[in-house]
Amino acid sequence: MPNETSTVNPFETAKQQIDIVAKQIHLDGGVLEVLKHPKRELTVHFPVRMDDGSFRVYTGYRVQYNMARGPTKGGIRFHPQVSLDEVRALAAWMTWKCAVVNIPYGGAKGGVICDPKSMSRGELERLTRRYASEISLIIGPEIDIPAPDVYTDSQTMAWIMDTYSMQAGYSVPGVVTGKPIPLGGSEGRGEATGRGCSIVIREAAKDAGIRVKGAKVAVQGFGNAGSVAARLLYDEQGAQIVAVSDSKGGIFKADGLNPHAVEEHKQKTGSVVGFPGTKAISNAEVLEAKVDILVPAALENQITAKNAPKIEAKVVAEAANGPTLPEADTILFEKKATVLPDILANAGGVTVSYFEWAQDIQGFFWPLAEVNQRLDRVMVQSYADVHKVAVEHKVHNRTAAYILAIQRVVDAIRLRGIYP
Ligand code: NAD
Repeated sequence: MPNETSTVNPFETAKQQIDIVAKQIHLDGGVLEVLKHPKRELTVHFPVRMDDGSFRVYTGYRVQYNMARGPTKGGIRFHPQVSLDEVRALAAWMTWKCAVVNIPYGGAKGGVICDPKSMSRGELERLTRRYASEISLIIGPEIDIPAPDVYTDSQTMAWIMDTYSMQAGYSVPGVVTGKPIPLGGSEGRGEATGRGCSIVIREAAKDAGIRVKGAKVAVQGFGNAGSVAARLLYDEQGAQIVAVSDSKGGIFKADGLNPHAVEEHKQKTGSVVGFPGTKAISNAEVLEAKVDILVPAALENQITAKNAPKIEAKVVAEAANGPTLPEADTILFEKKATVLPDILANAGGVTVSYFEWAQDIQGFFWPLAEVNQRLDRVMVQSYADVHKVAVEHKVHNRTAAYILAIQRVVDAIRLRGIYP
């Protein structure tokens, strides 16, 4: 999406973040160089038969950034703007995200340069299957486990699982996560990101001295992550959801909305806008609403140096990836707002993906209550770990999360040693 930062090379940003942390934890040159390079990158060019009988050649990537802590994990994106540097950056961020929540994975990412909106279902299936076949050289339950990302979903994962299984000669459900439940998907995966976010909000609120019961909440982006976070904050913690938005605009109600009813309205009309009894507000106003808790759950680069001074929330929980620009982080930190960074606040999704994989390879499936209980435990511990580092190093939570994650990866690299 066009914005002031869209020309920034995301991999350069990812490497700068590593440099900042390296200074904090006094990393030596050799290990630092390892951290700034992806371990393995595969580029594939492959033909796909189109519905009109012609065929087109597509380019795809799979980058395995670091596997010191275990097999790599990360989504597959179908988008016209996919580039190798974007995939590298996303793979690096997956490495840190898995390390923050201390699940035994490294990070990876994949992508295919394509315009899925202009392709038929048959074309998408053939593209997915051929891409899966091309990258099957380096994926697998013990090596690298893909998942859905932008414009890929549980059906895409089903096709990848089937393609990989056909080549193996037996069913391999653990090769991807985010699968439909009948193929070895996990209970609770669909709402895991929003649930994880609501759990870290609960924990951070205790440290920030905020009572979530009755607290006012604004959610930018009432999609998968945002609507689930809103619903759980309302149902389980008694928060008052006063503002929500989607790509069509925002709505505000001072004495609180029922997120279930908003969801129904969105299902019927395609948007939260026009929900009875609410005031229409802009997306910018949602961010600046007079609330205690703000959940950006839509796009990147939403909180900037310009609007950060106007943000009233005491807790900002990043359900979205990359919603806050670095200069805005500093402003929020100085305002004593608690930012729960993306690699912590939205890591519930990858955590339940890990549970899915663990269930698949055991062939033993857990009920929803068990999945949610385990997720709660992981998120509580991860928040506590990040908070401890933030206090010890006197840094904001984002830097703390990166310090924690990168230190864990460095520890694994050092313990394993450099081969040979
Ligand atoms: P989604 O498509 O279900 O929801 C996105 C929502 O944002 C939609 O309601 C859309 O209308 C809204 N939106 C789009 N443009 C907007 C704008 N300009 N202003 C306000 N709202 C706008 O996607 P999702 O899966 O909920 O993902 C949202 C964010 O969470 C992304 O950054 C994604 O990377 C991140 N995330 C999601 C998951 C997951 O498991 N779903 C996991 C980790 C991170």
